Amino acid sequence: MNNRPWLHCLLLLLALAAVSCTKQQEQSEPQPSPRIEEALVSVPEFDSQSAFKYLTTQTDFGPRNPGSQGHRACLTFLQTELSKYAEAVTVQNFSGADYKGKQYQLTNVVSSFNLQATDRILLTAHWDTRPWADEDANTAKHNTPVLGANDGASGVAVMLEIARVLKQQPPPIGVDIVLFDGEDIGKSGSLDTWCLGSKHFARTKATGFNPRFAINIDMIGDKMLAIPREEYSEQNVPDVVNMIFSIAGKLNLHQFADKRGSAVYDDHIPLNDVGIRAVDLIDFNYPDETNRYWHTTEDTPDKCSAESLGAVGKVLLYVIYSKAQM
Ligand SMILES: [Zn+2]
Repeated sequence: MNNRPWLHCLLLLLALAAVSCTKQQEQSEPQPSPRIEEALVSVPEFDSQSAFKYLTTQTDFGPRNPGSQGHRACLTFLQTELSKYAEAVTVQNFSGADYKGKQYQLTNVVSSFNLQATDRILLTAHWDTRPWADEDANTAKHNTPVLGANDGASGVAVMLEIARVLKQQPPPIGVDIVLFDGEDIGKSGSLDTWCLGSKHFARTKATGFNPRFAINIDMIGDKMLAIPREEYSEQNVPDVVNMIFSIAGKLNLHQFADKRGSAVYDDHIPLNDVGIRAVDLIDFNYPDETNRYWHTTEDTPDKCSAESLGAVGKVLLYVIYSKAQM
């Protein structure tokens, strides 16, 4: 494990921005140069291997579908792990039904960093896994719970690693990490039956909680990761999408495919519905256009990679530590 923080200087980027400003201001009064201290941003390293360990820790619990033993064990793990790093960890307990009508006790896990800061961003992922492998080629497996290495564990793994980094190097902005339950117990075509955790979080949002924006991550562990510009995100929050792809481009992260993606109903939609400007980072093509691992018993850790988790983690750390000023 390599935890040595590295200093990454955004000076070059800011210098380039300054050049572009200068070009526009050639005819006007000379502007004072930005102070170097303001232009330097220290972005800590994202440990991809540590993140991948967080992925397998979750899958080692087995499927984490609501009501299962794995669900209970994973919830305890998430609370324990986040309590090591966050200034505050709370849970939101609520009940919800899957699309077949079965009721469950569901739990969102809310963790906060730099509580003093009023300027905040929200990072989210779902931690539950689908109770049914109903896209499996083998129909005999359609009632088998999925392991959810990518669809569930990958987003949470990146969030846990970010939490660990936030403890080591306090962020210059307030950060809230919320792990949603009950995302994946819906029925195709029935939007009401999906994303129960984010809907509950949005419904109970405190009036004073107004993060600058939110980034939801889902299915970002695929070995063949290619995250496009998700359609709803592009429509609702184009400036944040542009910022994310700009950072990914500057970091040469090929896992971000700067192209238009399809529209995905995910946990960012309920957030947008209550005025939280939310982006979804998702590669729905798992592993490719055949989509043959999504909601199947094939969604296992060997289909995922540390490098993919690392690409997303690096971008999110840049967003946090540059205070999203890029
Ligand atoms: Zn799913």
